[in-house]
Amino acid sequence: MSGISPFFLSKQPPVILVADDDKTIRLLLRAAMEKEGYQVVEVANGKQCLDAYQTVKPDIVLLDAIMPVMDGFTCCRQLLQIARNNLMTALDNLDTESPLGNTVISQLWERTPILMITSLDDQESVDRAFDAGATDYLTKPIHLAVLRQRLRKLLQQAQVYKQLEAANLALQHLANVDGLTGLANRRRFDDYLNTQWINSAREKCSLSLILCDIDFFKFYNDQYGHPAGDICISTVGDTLNHKAQKNQDLVARYGGEEFAVIMPDTDASGAFYVATAMQVGVKNLQIAHSASTISQYVTMSMGVATMTPTWESSPSDLIMAADQALYQAKKQGRNRIVQS
Ligand code: GH3
Ligand code: MG
Ligand code: MG
Repeated sequence: MSGISPFFLSKQPPVILVADDDKTIRLLLRAAMEKEGYQVVEVANGKQCLDAYQTVKPDIVLLDAIMPVMDGFTCCRQLLQIARNNLMTALDNLDTESPLGNTVISQLWERTPILMITSLDDQESVDRAFDAGATDYLTKPIHLAVLRQRLRKLLQQAQVYKQLEAANLALQHLANVDGLTGLANRRRFDDYLNTQWINSAREKCSLSLILCDIDFFKFYNDQYGHPAGDICISTVGDTLNHKAQKNQDLVARYGGEEFAVIMPDTDASGAFYVATAMQVGVKNLQIAHSASTISQYVTMSMGVATMTPTWESSPSDLIMAADQALYQAKKQGRNRIVQS
């Protein structure tokens, strides 16, 4: 095991950013780490370290505590601040309401380990290092065998974090996304409706919901087979998703051949407009449905409800209203939109 580098799974050698004002120590560290197969970038003070951190994006930072211009403690604190800012910027640029809430990759930055190396080993200095956010601490004179193992351990830990985050992302995806259509699933629908219900109650703005159900879909399956039925559901779902108007609108697969569209900050006329666009969109797909008694193509019935949420009412009231409207649409002959 001792001959195997901790980065044996990745193609690129880990990049180590070394910040120390003592050139001799930098040379010593460079030699020792290059021997390990790491790539080394050297800087002479905390300020240079901050700049290099942004451009180099190191896998680990070795930080001397006492340096001119900016000391290691201040630098460490600012490195974490940079990482936090980067995370916030990444979050701002993300669709945070997407089912995945893809925060994962950027969070990894915050986990870039910082190993403080210093001649100070009194309790106060050690506490200061950890308070500043250092991941670990090593004292001078540097014991190269210890440093070597410490680096391996920290890099391994960072890699495990990455793998955990990736697994977490995959699980989040599975938990929130419908496998057939790629749309939000019922669980995500429930979460999102609850969140938007609370937001709308707070902001006192209207929240609309469309429930859509493909007409005579059992006959469709009987006529064309279940695999064709799957393709039909997927195609219809795609169309609904494209017709959603705003970023905050969420199109979900509600059940078998049923879809739901949550539209925050949307009044009744806006909701009707979107429902009409979706109905026309599906009609224009011209998916043949010879077993339907109302059209030669696949059609949908839709129930639309709009409410201004209050603390006395609940999301299920909105679902019930849309469901009743959908029931009326079916009862009145299908292929139509009924508003509650
Ligand atoms: P209505 O116009 O009243 O909605 O009639 P319907 O036949 O569409 O409604 P019903 O609820 O009787 O049947 C729904 C059908 O949808 C039955 C079920 O087999 C089919 N279905 C549900 N989920 C899937 C799926 O994932 N793939 C396929 N191919 N069919 C599905
Ligand atoms: Mg149905
Ligand atoms: Mg149906």
